[in-house]
Amino acid sequence: MSAIEFINDESGYFDWLNNNQEGFVINTPRTKSPSYMMVHRGTCRHIKGYATNYREGAFTERDYIKICANTLDELIKWAKENGRPDGSFSGGCKSCGTLSLIAKAVTGTQINNNEINYWVFSPGEQARFWDICFSEGIAAIGWDELGDLKQYGTIEDVRRAIKDVFGKDGNPVNDTLACFDFANTIKINDIIFAKKGMASLLGCGIVTGGYRFDETRNEFKHVRNVKWITRGNWEIPDDKKVALKTLTKITEYNEVVDTLLNLSGLIDKNEEQRTPINRLTTSFVPQNLILYGPPGTGKTYQLRNLQLDFTEETASETCTEFLASLVADKPWWMVVAAAVLDLKRVKVSDVVMHELVQAKQQVTPKKNLGATIWICLAAHSVNDDQTLNVKRPD
Ligand SMILES: [Zn+2]
Repeated sequence: MSAIEFINDESGYFDWLNNNQEGFVINTPRTKSPSYMMVHRGTCRHIKGYATNYREGAFTERDYIKICANTLDELIKWAKENGRPDGSFSGGCKSCGTLSLIAKAVTGTQINNNEINYWVFSPGEQARFWDICFSEGIAAIGWDELGDLKQYGTIEDVRRAIKDVFGKDGNPVNDTLACFDFANTIKINDIIFAKKGMASLLGCGIVTGGYRFDETRNEFKHVRNVKWITRGNWEIPDDKKVALKTLTKITEYNEVVDTLLNLSGLIDKNEEQRTPINRLTTSFVPQNLILYGPPGTGKTYQLRNLQLDFTEETASETCTEFLASLVADKPWWMVVAAAVLDLKRVKVSDVVMHELVQAKQQVTPKKNLGATIWICLAAHSVNDDQTLNVKRPD
């Protein structure tokens, strides 16, 4: 079977999704622009159902179309014929975990999303080496005098060599780590961002090769092959700025990773859903709109959706962001109660792992989460509760 294009065929597209749960989908504009070919899993919520208040036809009948296939290889084949010659997609989706699939066409290997590490690197001072990196498909760093970095067995060896060769005083922590990680820690399939200074993001790519010391170069002899997927000059917001180092691993900084992925266009913003059902046209724009109803009947929800009509923000919100917005202004006891209600009969350890409790923990961290939950449960239990077996604190 080869890939199937769904153009102006919303019901055909939905039928296909229903019958091919294990399949893959490319989201691309009608123009089949190689710069916007985003890959999703067939089960992804972003390409499966209409967001509330969005009218039918969002997926295949307006600006966007869908290409579907049972296997990733069939989609890569389609991409080779219709998009980039190497069959790489322009981006994936964090929600359904397809970022790692972008690279399959270029590295030939497939890994899971949670195996990807994210790196930020500076191609020379003021990014002077960026053009060469981009055009040659490499990432490269200085410290050429150190010679082949593979000769150093440990991080301590690298540190000593830097001190010896460059006569640096003190402990050159950042330089040592940059050289060691560049040669040893970065893996094929990792995602690497190129930046200039602290505030400019220049591109995003996938590491496709191991470390090599390239004697034939005049400078920047430490080299790795990178398939640069996107290129631009995007301003990194103040609160997501990345340290002024040559190489930094940012995997643990989820928000920074998300920001850079978004800026560089490596994740699908699901723009096909951006024409709402009751779009307020210029022929009917009420100057004032009063939403009336008792609490909990969806006034805020409606307003939030209306807001999308007037803002540039996309409708997409990651699950993490959504959960965080749910719990941010709720007290701990309320979050715990919701988790217990959701889980029915539970142990405290189950409550700890509940997604709402975890989301609350991200927003308002507690040192001892288990104890916090106990206190909430105890404080709201009936006095003679045999299950909890504690006296209610006064
Ligand atoms: Zn997706």
